[in-house]
Amino acid sequence: MKDLPARRLLLVHAHPDDESINNGATMARYAAEGAHVTLVTCTLGEEGEVIPPPLARLTADRDDTLGPHRVGELAEAMKELGVADHRFLGGAGRYRDSGMMGAEQNGRPGSFWSTPVDEAAAHLVEVIREIRPQVLVTYDPDGGYGHPDHIQAHRVAMRAADLAADPAYGSGAPHAVAKIYWNRVERAVAEAGFERLRTTAPDAFPGIAAVDDVPGVTDGERITAEIDGSAYAGAKSAAMRAHATQIAVDGPFFALSNDLGQPLLTTEYYQLVRGAPGVPGGIRESDLFAGLPAAEDGTGATGGTA
Ligand SMILES: [Zn+2]
Repeated sequence: MKDLPARRLLLVHAHPDDESINNGATMARYAAEGAHVTLVTCTLGEEGEVIPPPLARLTADRDDTLGPHRVGELAEAMKELGVADHRFLGGAGRYRDSGMMGAEQNGRPGSFWSTPVDEAAAHLVEVIREIRPQVLVTYDPDGGYGHPDHIQAHRVAMRAADLAADPAYGSGAPHAVAKIYWNRVERAVAEAGFERLRTTAPDAFPGIAAVDDVPGVTDGERITAEIDGSAYAGAKSAAMRAHATQIAVDGPFFALSNDLGQPLLTTEYYQLVRGAPGVPGGIRESDLFAGLPAAEDGTGATGGTA
């Protein structure tokens, strides 16, 4: 593809809604700045619960139509974020939501968790070699909070980055992603957000989540980049609202189907795990593309290298 913008960002997520919760402000910012933002979602989230009672029949144990419904929610969310390039790994419905750890669905044929990593990664290599992103964002090895699909998304993303750079692998020109980040949330920031929830809106939700329930929560030392998305707070909130079966938003707070409130953070945090930091001296980056050559085009002629 010759006409891609100079800056290209790829995000790999497990289910529709994870991208808006983790990276909604970041995605909106880079899309608004003219970067090419590509979202790859690995499953349709078919095993999720459903919050609005009128839609309760969608669940896997009833009509089992939550997956297609969430395809529509994701499309709406991407409109809110201004992201045009969103895809499902291997095509919509190729890999099924595996359910929570230990669930019987984990081992079903076609579940994402039971799929060999290299098989799933092959689809992502195609995307990486087509888009040639300089920056890849995914979860930490625990998937942020231990969900099998999130752990598998991490494994597939990291493996695909390696395979895409290997000239001996598959077809298409190799491409090395210059920087890889894992999603993080700074513990002190989350704690302050929970304190705001407890003091300003204690009754907004039936309960309040624990700080350690927040995916990717970690101490500040591990965080290397901080994206101030306050200008895109409205877009992030709207994108989260679009995932109506999964998320209930109330002002600067939200809850998942467990009805436990938590802060909706519009500053988003990252840990650089591959590539050189763009800012010296251990100072946090404020741009995921920091330190990368600015003029690289999308033809691969100068291919991004770490
Ligand atoms: Zn998820």
